Amino acid sequence: MEWRRIDKSQSEEPTNGTYRDWKPQLATEGEHRCVYCSIHDNRWGGERIFHVEHFKPKSKFKALINSYANLFYACPVCNVFKSDSWFDAPVGDWTVCHYPDPSEYNYGEFFVVDVTNQLTGVNAVGKFLIERLHLNRKHLIIERRKEIVEDKLTSLHGEIDRIINLLNIDELRELAQLQNAIGKIRSKAIYTPMYEPADLS
Ligand SMILES: [Zn+2]
Repeated sequence: MEWRRIDKSQSEEPTNGTYRDWKPQLATEGEHRCVYCSIHDNRWGGERIFHVEHFKPKSKFKALINSYANLFYACPVCNVFKSDSWFDAPVGDWTVCHYPDPSEYNYGEFFVVDVTNQLTGVNAVGKFLIERLHLNRKHLIIERRKEIVEDKLTSLHGEIDRIINLLNIDELRELAQLQNAIGKIRSKAIYTPMYEPADLS
């Protein structure tokens, strides 16, 4: 999964309605991914299930309830884990646990993903985010692995298409025959004993 900074300076602020009306725009702005865990909404119930997230909680910052700059697109799980928690900290101080503003920072810079698809915090803020938002929950680890496999399959298909485009029709026929022959050899190798009993005597 990939995080990105949500550049609010590129956004056009809505001129009517309230925060609930702005979810489609926030979804587009966030490329349909949760601002915190980066899961895509097509992997987790769609736009209907995702939430409009008040980065500065509306219970503590009532004046920001319909402030577009304070709104992001988030999955319901991260939204519930974050809830109305808030921690003040000097801007850019990664030794003090807090939620960095996603319009200023790319959350991906606070983590590294290891070979088991678990996140590790690169600093105190990264560790804090992983713990508070449960960013190593089982569902996310499975989704990270699926995305890697799908990316690899997509690039493999691209490479096969590239090779096919390089071949002319006779070479394609040869390739098909070769694949057919390989298939036959493979099935023979799997289903035929390597040695007849007589060979072993
Ligand atoms: Zn999330």
